[in-house]
Amino acid sequence: MIAAKTELRAGTLPLFIGGRLQFSNKVFPTIEPATGDTLAEVSLASASDVDGAVAAARYAFDQGPWPRMSGGERAAYLMRVADLIEDRQSTLAEFESRDTGLPVRFTAEGHLPRTVAHFRYFAEEATRLVGEVFALDSAYLSLVVREAVGVAAVITPWNAPLSIASMQVAAALACGNTCVLKPSELAPVTSSMLADVMAAADLPEGVFNLIHGPAEPTGRALVEQPGIDIVSFTGGTATGKQILAASARYVRRVLCELGGKSANLILEDADLNSALDGSLLSMYANNGEACHAASRLLVARPIYERFSEMFADRVGNLQLGNPLDPDTEVGPLISEEHQARVLNFVQSGLEDGASLLAGGSEAPDLKGGYYVLPTVFANANNSMRIAREEIFGPVAVIIPFETEDEAVEMANDSDYGLAGYIWTARFDRALELASRLRVGSVSINSPMIRDIRVPFGGFKRSGIGRTGGRFSITHYTELKTICVPVQGYTFPRLGSRES
Ligand code: NDP
Repeated sequence: MIAAKTELRAGTLPLFIGGRLQFSNKVFPTIEPATGDTLAEVSLASASDVDGAVAAARYAFDQGPWPRMSGGERAAYLMRVADLIEDRQSTLAEFESRDTGLPVRFTAEGHLPRTVAHFRYFAEEATRLVGEVFALDSAYLSLVVREAVGVAAVITPWNAPLSIASMQVAAALACGNTCVLKPSELAPVTSSMLADVMAAADLPEGVFNLIHGPAEPTGRALVEQPGIDIVSFTGGTATGKQILAASARYVRRVLCELGGKSANLILEDADLNSALDGSLLSMYANNGEACHAASRLLVARPIYERFSEMFADRVGNLQLGNPLDPDTEVGPLISEEHQARVLNFVQSGLEDGASLLAGGSEAPDLKGGYYVLPTVFANANNSMRIAREEIFGPVAVIIPFETEDEAVEMANDSDYGLAGYIWTARFDRALELASRLRVGSVSINSPMIRDIRVPFGGFKRSGIGRTGGRFSITHYTELKTICVPVQGYTFPRLGSRES
């Protein structure tokens, strides 16, 4: 069981509502994917807890100081949150790895520094919230000001709980919103630790609230709550549709950061060693459980055999193991159910006639955890299930192409449109191909690099809206236009007989 501060209070991870930690009579376990053991018991939010969290956030928004503070005052709180997370960084990274199965090399060196950076970046943005002025023939000025939207429901997946939550929560709070966070029931530990941090940073009551529980009933109860003004959802496309449908009732703004099946184009003139390193990282980092995983490798026919062999050789060498071991490159998957789902995809690849080059089974030497050997299929085509559906695990598929037009056509022949990758020696060629890909982000001769300031999000069924930098600010603010006369203007005096 975990030794987190929250556990010392009652052995169970609490909810955080209206500035108070609350323990529920009903609990559920969160399981450690490396062992199958219970990592912590978690308080299950009842329907009245969900109502209470939304009411606390509502009160804090409508009556509390948070939206009425200066940006500089909110920034000071968010900087304090960043500092407190930084102080606890190694503990948070350890529990993020234990709760999700993500190798600590990625949580400690990627997710946690990123979480701190989100709070620092959006703290600065809080001091930069500006409006615009429009002059009409020098008689009127229209002032366009930004205001917080209200109460934000932030719903997050299990694959990068803290870094995804922090991206949304930091931006929402910076703009003066209050929020209710619901992490996945499969990985709630570090979100609970975030609640501890919020309490230690002394945020005004109700500004940040945390509820725990599964999609049904907790998640659904949250999105059906009329007191929510805005929903920020990161998760699967099927769930995104449900959240949009529930929000339509309230004509509510919804951000959807959804799934992907990203194509990775490797052209004949690519530097093969860089393409190999970048493609492996883009595919197998975070256990392949990444929305932007480069899971469809489209490789030019003349280099197809050679690249596939080099790739499979390296996949076979990937270090699968305990996520807390610093040498581990690929850890266990989030749950037994997800492990079975991923292995089912492997089976479908075999049945569809793709050639298995590496992996394809549970790890024979790693008992107890939800491991799947890093897997790669070749001689596949773009209509196979393994090429069309998001597997969200360490399974790649390599497909040959004859011409660049064919590569672009295959890349775009997908329900998804989150990311794309291009490897070639010619920059002009890469830019031309990038312009033809129907995706939100393209990486050229590089794995995905996410600058906090740039927009991230998907075309097609990969989502609606963008996060990052001022694009998050756009999401979390309303625009209000205030019109004022600046010169003596004689209005037409309707109903008056005087001239
Ligand atoms: P899910 O869609 O299953 O769940 C995401 C969150 O939504 C969880 O907290 C879940 O609760 C909750 N939820 C599920 N159904 C409902 C509902 N009807 N109403 C309210 N809440 C609900 O996604 P996963 O957690 O399985 O995450 C994997 C998916 O997330 C992948 O498709 C991946 O591509 C996508 N993703 C997208 C990213 C992006 O930026 N585009 C980034 C990261 C992941 P619970 O888990 O407790 O049941």
